[in-house]
Amino acid sequence: MLDETAADAHKQRRANDLHGDKAMTDRADIPAPRSSVLDIAPYVPGEARVPGVEKVFKLASNESPLGPSPAAVEAISRVAGQVADYPDGSAHDLRTAIAERHGLNPDNIVCGNGSDELLHLLAQAYLSPGDEAIHTEHGFLVYPIAIRAAGGAPVVAREENLTASVDAILEKVGPRTRLVYLANPNNPTGTYLPIDELKRLQAELPPHVLLVIDAAYAEYVRRNDYEAGIELVSTCENVVMTRTFSKAYGLAGMRIGWMYAPAHVVDAINRIRGPFNVNAAALAAGAAAMRDAAHLQEAVEHNEQWREWLAGQLSALGLEVTPSVANFLLVHFPDEAGKRAADADAFLKSRGLILRRMAGYGFPNALRLSIGTEEANRLLVDALREFLGRS
Ligand SMILES: *Cc1c(COP(=O)(O)O)cnc(C)c1O
Repeated sequence: MLDETAADAHKQRRANDLHGDKAMTDRADIPAPRSSVLDIAPYVPGEARVPGVEKVFKLASNESPLGPSPAAVEAISRVAGQVADYPDGSAHDLRTAIAERHGLNPDNIVCGNGSDELLHLLAQAYLSPGDEAIHTEHGFLVYPIAIRAAGGAPVVAREENLTASVDAILEKVGPRTRLVYLANPNNPTGTYLPIDELKRLQAELPPHVLLVIDAAYAEYVRRNDYEAGIELVSTCENVVMTRTFSKAYGLAGMRIGWMYAPAHVVDAINRIRGPFNVNAAALAAGAAAMRDAAHLQEAVEHNEQWREWLAGQLSALGLEVTPSVANFLLVHFPDEAGKRAADADAFLKSRGLILRRMAGYGFPNALRLSIGTEEANRLLVDALREFLGRS
């Protein structure tokens, strides 16, 4: 299913609500969720298959083309013999590995079933029905879902040049604001705010508003003015940083995320998370991956090399590419019959190249591509050259 389909379904449901089908949710003979649950537009993951095409290259979900550390794979097979036992609910070894690698106190780390779980738990813990949480215009679509699931109201702050704006976020702070979600770098734009801007945001937010810095792509960023947010968390009581093993560590299928937070936030999240929220294979894989610095380095270098190559090639074909510091590129297509993003998507799919439609993120004429293997990257450029009639 495409993003567009979900958006349409959502619109349709809204229309039905307005035209009387809302009675469905008012029926007394069936259980009904909170109305804020039915306001959620379901998240639509990237596609993995094309009917009739045997060999596909999935460049739709920002997964690592290098895959996980071999040490992580080995750790997973070792766990296979022990799955009758519950996992370590405190994630002690995984938190230790993360803490050693990043120079943190393990007591300030909570692990999650992907960072998605942590993003949800933060909303559950800090939002009451009617409270507001801010995210940016082209921010990650999990944020409005987490906010609504907690009964809160998402408030959207405009971006400038497809980049988060501290002033625009601050303008949206009101008496009911409790949370700000900021992806840095942001998905799907690939743009980022320098650490000075994050510090200014924290300094000007009311102290009771929790700033959640989602640094899912931090490993990839090599800029002197970028920091993932560790120092801010260490020195402020209202900042949390979330991280993931799904991207640079190549472990999306294991579902492992972590957050670094002040003690009082750690305490709140530990009260509401499932006692065994991270499974045994994930715990073992994450710790092994965290201790394999060489593999991570290789993934980051591959990404840098091919991101720059792809950006150059696509620009040379006349496509507009938003400058990205992450492992994906947002590519804008000409507003010309037969040359739009939807046309490109269909053409690329027929070649087995699966990118991500972006209408759900407010970019009806753009596709997002993840940096792939050398083979996938070269095939993509060749296919786009042909699509645009430049061969
Ligand atoms: C991919 C991604 C995540 C990671 O989610 P997981 O649940 O850890 O797989 C978080 N935030 C953003 C912005 C992402 O793009």
